[in-house]
Amino acid sequence: MINFQYTRAADLADAVQQMAADPAAKFIAGGTNLIDLMRGDVERPAHLIDISRLPLTKVEETDAGGARIGALVPNSDLAYHPLIEKRYPILSSAILAGASQQLRNMASTGGNLLQRTRCFYFYDTATPCNKRSPGSGCSALDGVNRINAILGTSDACIATHPSDMCVALAALDATIHVIGPGGERAIAFADFHRLPGSTPQLDTNLQRDEIVTAIELPQAGFAANYTYLKIRDRLSYAFALVSIAAAVELDGEVIREARIALGGVAPKPWRSLKAESVLRDQAPTPQNFAKVADVLLAGARGYGHNDFKIGLARRGIIRALGQAARGTPQSQSVKKVR
Ligand SMILES: Cc1cc2nc3c(=O)[nH]c(=O)nc-3n(C[C@H](O)[C@H](O)[C@H](O)COP(=O)(O)OP(=O)(O)OC[C@H]3O[C@@H](n4cnc5c(N)ncnc54)[C@H](O)[C@@H]3O)c2cc1C
Ligand code: SF4
Repeated sequence: MINFQYTRAADLADAVQQMAADPAAKFIAGGTNLIDLMRGDVERPAHLIDISRLPLTKVEETDAGGARIGALVPNSDLAYHPLIEKRYPILSSAILAGASQQLRNMASTGGNLLQRTRCFYFYDTATPCNKRSPGSGCSALDGVNRINAILGTSDACIATHPSDMCVALAALDATIHVIGPGGERAIAFADFHRLPGSTPQLDTNLQRDEIVTAIELPQAGFAANYTYLKIRDRLSYAFALVSIAAAVELDGEVIREARIALGGVAPKPWRSLKAESVLRDQAPTPQNFAKVADVLLAGARGYGHNDFKIGLARRGIIRALGQAARGTPQSQSVKKVR
């Protein structure tokens, strides 16, 4: 473990000020990802600014009928919050499909957005990795890439974004609120995470000196017809090989609106408006769901060990949309444990 300075932010303005004053600093919230990275010598911040006691712990209804979630709401509190369970159950399901109860109790909403990839080589400092050490090369391209991406990759990096929560937030069209020395700004969820291109070291468009303050959800929660389907090696405590957040709004036997986002397959939650439009005013049939899969997976390519993900994602999309249309959510069996 490296030596580092530890300070606690007194309030939001102090957090921003401390970060602006020290280019070697990083915020720490629950610490469930950052401390692991520091232990593994993957990240070496010289200064940790603890934001865990800032008053960003509320889930509130907005004037527009949506929800505003503070960046420090623990993942478990968010999943079990009555407003989220009732109006946005796809978000509860996605969160409860991730990690373990103990981790979800510690993990913050803001930290979940900013958790880093689980690519094996990113954590192995003995190997080249452009995300950890820009310009060193990508060991996964010709290495063990079973868990890596099939969409949105570049020659520099084929890592996936590991979050479950973010897949549901993408489908729900969330907005991220941030504050920095230049003031507040709102970032559409689709613009928050980045594709690797030639700069895989940058996971998001958040500036180094900005802090996430809240996530906002619009009114539409698709509570009647949704599913979060997570396919993984073990049934619990494992990251997704492929995950699918699917939701539809039905008018009798016709789909008026559809949402679908994929996890485990790309460097960011993968959503395509074109794929969703395929289902507008159409019947919820496997044939129509297969057309959605064609559009969502257009351009998908495997790198050897992960070739299986293309077929797995295709079958998962059809299954998840079918479950959503039938109103049989995937993760209802997760019990409340406090
Ligand atoms: C064993 C294990 C299994 C897991 N399984 C899953 C899983 O299946 N699915 C899943 O989705 N996740 C999983 N996780 C990841 C877990 O959800 C994340 O570690 C957690 O959400 C991170 O939140 P945190 O508050 O602990 O972040 P921290 O570790 O404190 O911070 C993570 C990063 O976010 C930055 N940060 C934190 N808050 C803010 C903020 N408000 N503004 C700006 N920057 C901020 C920090 O500087 C740091 O870079 C797993 C983790 C572990 C250890
Ligand atoms: S896929 Fe990305 S994170 Fe993994 S080794 Fe290559 S550059 Fe590093």
